[in-house]
Amino acid sequence: MPIDPLAWIDEELDSLAKQDLRRRLVTRVGPQAALTELDAWRGINFGSNDYLGLAADPRLAQAVADALPAEGWGGGASPLLTGHARLHGELEARLAEFEGTEAALVFSSGFAANAGTIAALVGQGDVVFTDRKNHASLLDGCRLSRADVRAYPHNDWQRLDRLMAKTAGNRRRLIVTDGLFSMDGDLAPLQRLADLAERHDAMLMVDEAHATGVFGPSGRGVAELDSVEDRVHVRVGTLSKAIGSIGGFVAGSRRLIDWLINRSRPYIFSTAPPAAVAAAALAALDILRDEPVRRHTLLDRANELRRALHESGWNTGPSASQIIPILLGSTRRALDLSAELRDQGLHVPPIRFPTVPKGEACLRISLCYSHTDEMIDQLLTVLRRAR
Ligand SMILES: *Cc1c(COP(=O)(O)O)cnc(C)c1O
Repeated sequence: MPIDPLAWIDEELDSLAKQDLRRRLVTRVGPQAALTELDAWRGINFGSNDYLGLAADPRLAQAVADALPAEGWGGGASPLLTGHARLHGELEARLAEFEGTEAALVFSSGFAANAGTIAALVGQGDVVFTDRKNHASLLDGCRLSRADVRAYPHNDWQRLDRLMAKTAGNRRRLIVTDGLFSMDGDLAPLQRLADLAERHDAMLMVDEAHATGVFGPSGRGVAELDSVEDRVHVRVGTLSKAIGSIGGFVAGSRRLIDWLINRSRPYIFSTAPPAAVAAAALAALDILRDEPVRRHTLLDRANELRRALHESGWNTGPSASQIIPILLGSTRRALDLSAELRDQGLHVPPIRFPTVPKGEACLRISLCYSHTDEMIDQLLTVLRRAR
């Protein structure tokens, strides 16, 4: 019998299962909300990035429904051909206004925005400096660019300073960092990084995927919070987390956006998202502006939850945001605690290798505006008992 050339996959999957690293899809039934049905289970969902509770907001769904008769559904072509719809243009103008930049560009995902932007900014003979805890899409962008990639220890700006001094003479230089780190929930030292970018003639790119809509006086992210927006050359945000929709965007100078339109391969060689998707994001930006109570309440509750977890003896690492990891170390322990919580009606996903390094497994609590005080109390009660 001929050997199936894909037979090796079974062995690899078995090996993952033996290490407790095999993942399986769960299927959500119904909208992304605080109370969620996953497979045959129903309970409180602490595993989404729907930070402002907008994913299931009827105003977003209504905006899509209103746009559909005029726009149809499919994008049909790359934005450079015939895919760029009037609503995309409106959303880009609105994002530029929101971010206070000359221009903005909408991508079909935050992943595409990151990967496609880094690869357009640096190439062979250039150097890119990346935080070791940066999101996978930033790392993939670095690899894709074929620039010399220098990873620096998490948030260690002093090491970065030395690294940059040693690599003087490279053609173009780029520092890339998450604004708010997706697993630890801590913030990047953006003022320091902006200083280094200036001192060492580098571009600075900040991915605000988890901070857009949440941090800063107007919800623009950590760069706004730290008052360094003028010194961040490339700002990336996502429409798929706090904005409750789908897609990513880059905001910056007109020349930056023009360059991406000409050189960013995921932008050029991928079909434009449906125009109606832009209508949902526009509706969400209205809500963001009109209901700042969502982000204020969220961050207040996150501070309280972190404090209560510390008091019960849990280690939440460096978290300073709505992303609150419970550091556990062993994968087994993370899986067991997650299963225990699930039995008590609480979904808190375990995070393990390769999402985090081996031996650094955790549970990741993603707090959202839609979680009520009662839901958070329930989580705390079960976690106190499990300690
Ligand atoms: C989720 C995420 C992205 C990707 O955004 P999508 O719109 O989901 O593709 C990029 N960067 C960070 C830090 C993220 O957490």
